[in-house]
Amino acid sequence: MSRISFPNPFDAEGFWIKGNLHTHTTNSDGLLTPFQTALVYQSNGYGFLSITDHNRLTNVEDLRSDFEDLILLPGEEISVGGYHLVAFNIESEIMPADDPESVIREVHRQNGEVIVAHPYWSALMPEDLLGLDGYLGIEVYNATCDVTVAKGYSSVYWDILLHNGRFTYGFAVDDAHGGLMLGRPTDACKGWIMVKARRFDEASIMESIRRGLFYSSTGPEIHDIQVDDEKIHVKTSPAKSISFIAKNGRGRRSYALNEPLREAVYTVRGNEDYIRLEIEDERGGVAWTNPMILETR
Ligand SMILES: [Zn+2]
Ligand SMILES: [Zn+2]
Repeated sequence: MSRISFPNPFDAEGFWIKGNLHTHTTNSDGLLTPFQTALVYQSNGYGFLSITDHNRLTNVEDLRSDFEDLILLPGEEISVGGYHLVAFNIESEIMPADDPESVIREVHRQNGEVIVAHPYWSALMPEDLLGLDGYLGIEVYNATCDVTVAKGYSSVYWDILLHNGRFTYGFAVDDAHGGLMLGRPTDACKGWIMVKARRFDEASIMESIRRGLFYSSTGPEIHDIQVDDEKIHVKTSPAKSISFIAKNGRGRRSYALNEPLREAVYTVRGNEDYIRLEIEDERGGVAWTNPMILETR
């Protein structure tokens, strides 16, 4: 027998808040000012945004009075060797360094968290991720890496980590640089997380992100997930496929035949080690849950 451990946002109290944790402005190589950037996200229904300019902390204090419906988390994308580390909820600027562990320690000292950005774009090796401690998750999807060079999806890295017992979270982000660029789609408002938070404030959002009470998406909406030790039941917006992804070949993918799928049930075998869900819609949008961990007893 096995027991499934999963921080299920659908069982948690609170309400859903949409957010993006990786964005650039004119303070680094982005096209829009911090004010314009915040305006884009607030007017598209986002409840929180982290501005993460390269190696520079953008001051968001002055923006707060103009954006009461958008919580602004101070952030920075720090270059460390071959890594780009996205830090959010930090207090002061963090200098680029050679040693990623010391950067992560400093982010934690400031009560922030770190996500390893775009592993595919960075061409990280699995050991680069397995050998680094202290990050909260990796970017499973990065919109700007997708629309500019077709390296947006890092889900293989995530499975390598999970396969090796590193039960880290996956985040979809924009990494937005341009609003609208000629000749290619925008990289803003394409990849986000849906966080279940108890209150509309920084502390509640950070608490829920730390506990894994969120899912990532580029389109599909997840309506419900129910998990017991034998079955996983998911309900979603209309989907082309619903996948239960597990260790090696132990998961299962279901496809829509005549009608779009709106739910799926997976019977747990007990030897999956972990199970994470991917839902794909007709337009190519994907939603990702955080991993469910099977504890054998
Ligand atoms: Zn980067
Ligand atoms: Zn970036």
